[in-house]
Amino acid sequence: MYNFNYQKATSRDDAISARSSADDGSYLAGGMTLIPTLKQRLAKPSDVIDLAAIDDLAGITDDGGAITIGAMTTHAAVANSDVVASKIPALAALAGHIGDPQVRNRGTIGGSIANNDPAADYPAGCVGLNATIITNKREISADDFFTDLFETVLEDGELITAVSFPVADKAAYAKFPNPASRYAIVGVMVAQTGGETRAAVTGASQSGVYRAADIEAALGDGLDAAAAKAVKVSADGLNSDIHASAEYRAHLISIMASRAATAAG
Ligand SMILES: Cc1cc2nc3c(=O)[nH]c(=O)nc-3n(C[C@H](O)[C@H](O)[C@H](O)COP(=O)(O)OP(=O)(O)OC[C@H]3O[C@@H](n4cnc5c(N)ncnc54)[C@H](O)[C@@H]3O)c2cc1C
Repeated sequence: MYNFNYQKATSRDDAISARSSADDGSYLAGGMTLIPTLKQRLAKPSDVIDLAAIDDLAGITDDGGAITIGAMTTHAAVANSDVVASKIPALAALAGHIGDPQVRNRGTIGGSIANNDPAADYPAGCVGLNATIITNKREISADDFFTDLFETVLEDGELITAVSFPVADKAAYAKFPNPASRYAIVGVMVAQTGGETRAAVTGASQSGVYRAADIEAALGDGLDAAAAKAVKVSADGLNSDIHASAEYRAHLISIMASRAATAAG
């Protein structure tokens, strides 16, 4: 680990100001990605600005037609929330299958989506459920937020404050997890909200999370699980690594979409 200045922000303004005055600052949320990155000397920020003491960045609110989750809300809090379980059970289930208990008790929704790991679960949750990412500057549709592997539209110093999820009519998430990390080898969020059907895929593409138009067309209005399973997904542009070939991932996309559609129905 290289030396850095540690700053514990006490408010959103404090964090944003510390970040803008730093030569090369980095926000710290749950630290599940950032701390190992620092320990391996893969990053060398001048300042690490800890968000943990900013109370109003964590929490879940029921807005009727949507639920809003503060950026510093842990995966465990989402998984165990009565509000999330009753309004969007698919999201509670997604959060409950991230990593292990240690990761779920430290990792946050804001850290997860800012990091945009190509195998992370929340990006598929956000895109599949048509969420809105709220920052200190603007509101961004999930469709526009995730741009590439570990890349988002966040500007330098921009702070995610919350994520708003519209309540879906039907939704479910199915994941084929890496047995060690539980990251998605392939994960698919299937959702139907206000007559629109979405299928968002994580873990598979070389460009990170994406909406699978062929799966969405097959699912149709009735979330037809058999039709989704029958889709022959192309392996072009899919990841191939020691865990799974591109062809295997292509196969898993149809299977996970079909399982999610069955669960949602
Ligand atoms: C062993 C292990 C297993 C895991 N398994 C899974 C899994 O199965 N599925 C899954 O989806 N994830 C998994 N994760 C990832 C984990 O769940 C965290 O979501 C992820 O590591 C980042 O969240 P964090 O809160 O720890 O962020 P941090 O590590 O603190 O930060 C990550 C990045 O986000 C930035 N950041 C943090 N908060 C904000 C904010 N509010 N605004 C702007 N930028 C911000 C930081 O500056 C940093 O660049 C796993 C991690 C580990 C270590």
